[in-house]
Amino acid sequence: MTTPATTSDLRALSDAHSAHNYHPLPVVISAAEGAWVTDVEGHRYLDMLAAYSAINFGHRHPRLVAAARRQLDRVTLVSRAFDHDQFGLFCAELAELAGMDMVLPMNTGAEAVETAIKTARKWGYEVKGVPEGEAVIIAFEGNFHGRTTTIVSFSTDPDARGSYGPYTPGFRVIPYGDADALAAAMGPNVAGVLIEPIQGEAGVVAPPPGYLAKVRELCSAHGALMIADEIQSGLGRTGTTFACEHDGVVPDMYLLGKALGGGIVPLSAVVSSREVLGVFKPGQHGSTFGGNPLACAVGREVIAMLGTGEFQERSAKLGTHMHHRLAALPGDVVTEVRGRGLWAGVEFASLSGRQVCERLAARRVLAKDTHGTTIRLAPPLTISKEELDWALDQVEDVVRSS
Ligand code: PLP
Repeated sequence: MTTPATTSDLRALSDAHSAHNYHPLPVVISAAEGAWVTDVEGHRYLDMLAAYSAINFGHRHPRLVAAARRQLDRVTLVSRAFDHDQFGLFCAELAELAGMDMVLPMNTGAEAVETAIKTARKWGYEVKGVPEGEAVIIAFEGNFHGRTTTIVSFSTDPDARGSYGPYTPGFRVIPYGDADALAAAMGPNVAGVLIEPIQGEAGVVAPPPGYLAKVRELCSAHGALMIADEIQSGLGRTGTTFACEHDGVVPDMYLLGKALGGGIVPLSAVVSSREVLGVFKPGQHGSTFGGNPLACAVGREVIAMLGTGEFQERSAKLGTHMHHRLAALPGDVVTEVRGRGLWAGVEFASLSGRQVCERLAARRVLAKDTHGTTIRLAPPLTISKEELDWALDQVEDVVRSS
């Protein structure tokens, strides 16, 4: 096959030969650096999505590329049948960043969530004393935790869940942000409460002030594990290392992914205490690629970069600026702006999110719609103020010309 070079040729190929489980914008990217991507025709776009936070440090950050290159020249994969020299260091450094004891590395976010569900159930039976087969995990309406059959079993999004049954039992789904509903759902068989501190896929929805502290309190009172899915909200996105920090809350388990792999490799992890992760014995859980040398080397560089606080600070400062500008958009077109740090869900009165994203792409800005009339903005935390202002000028232009 001769190599096609145009956007339309390449899109025709993916249309014909890939499953249509996504509906990408008509842009075919062939290169990227920092906050910018370039398509096959040479057009440059500012990336205001950053792969749903997986590109928190920008595309091909020199420190991360150098860490990956160093490791590529040494050893990339050994499986967990053998140890390697990056593994213990990665686990120790991530545990320290999170203020926890232990780490269980996996690859994708969904695998970290699956691992957390297995951990909570096992802990429920072996430590809490829940009768075998009766453990309950509480999840929330509007959640997004990934795409496996078990995870979509407790999704409330018909697109994510429909036609995938029979569904995995053992989940109780309650309204997000309603402390009374959580108090009522608690019981002796509840092993864990799985929560996004800010619901990303739902449109960057934050719970009411004080709610996460209440979740923490109820989990402690009922002996249930508070499991914070910080796969999208964590690692600097909201202006702190973890979004839970804004509420002064420390969960029992952090789930991390996306940015942990530096935008180079898939790398996820469950981070928790010795009491909780100590439930696993050899042979009871695993992954061929989980905790591989290349991923650990990149992950260690990510942890070192977050250790300085520089990226969290940028997100907080530029995020305040971004939210200030978004809040000034005319209220008849933009009805609500939500979020924290360099992360926003922008709600349009009548334009569809898709229309907005197409108009932004025509102005060389990439963003992503969600749930009808919402767009999500989540630029790399490395974006400059000038780049951010230029992107926000384009958003303003779309709003004012609608
Ligand atoms: N959890 C949250 C909060 C997410 O936002 C996502 C992905 O968007 C996932 C889990 C699943 O991650 P992955 O797509 O890497 O499986």
